[in-house]
Amino acid sequence: MTKVLYPGSFDPITYGHMSVIEQASDIFDEVIIAVMQNPLKNSGFFTLEERQYLIEKIYEKAKNIKVVLGSGASVDVALKYGCKALIRGLRGVTDFDSEIGLATINKSISDGKINTVCFFADSAYQFLSSSVVREIFNLGKDINDYVHPIVSVGMQKKLKRR
Ligand code: ADP
Repeated sequence: MTKVLYPGSFDPITYGHMSVIEQASDIFDEVIIAVMQNPLKNSGFFTLEERQYLIEKIYEKAKNIKVVLGSGASVDVALKYGCKALIRGLRGVTDFDSEIGLATINKSISDGKINTVCFFADSAYQFLSSSVVREIFNLGKDINDYVHPIVSVGMQKKLKRR
């Protein structure tokens, strides 16, 4: 059984992330999405638990997609869950430059155990990122072309609670 780990911030999960998850879940036996705590990033829009909840709701019917919270090195989270590789998404050359560096470091710090498999962004979501979604939302514009309805409802609810 080949399991892979998809680590990221997912604040919030977008259709871009979802296209990577769906491509990977067609190929691998199990995709574990790890909502990673990143001490170098600002606190963000959603808490880590809220991000996990939203992703779980989206994939509640999917048999081979699981969501966990992670901290520390992604490779350690991958090893903990018995994953053979990390998966990442590439939108263009900027992502390629950072991902090749990350993949090399991750292989090295896991003593060669964890490789990285990259999927290309769907052309419709080439320029889509979580930060773009947060900006559009803050401007009061419709985000339904970019995120699942569960996420847009979640963002509206969170705004009301603030
Ligand atoms: P991180 O904070 O680790 O960059 P993100 O949640 O921003 O976490 O992204 C996780 C992964 O998903 C990264 O590999 C990123 O390149 C990829 N990704 C983000 N947006 C898209 C998109 N629109 N299409 C394809 N891959 C994407």
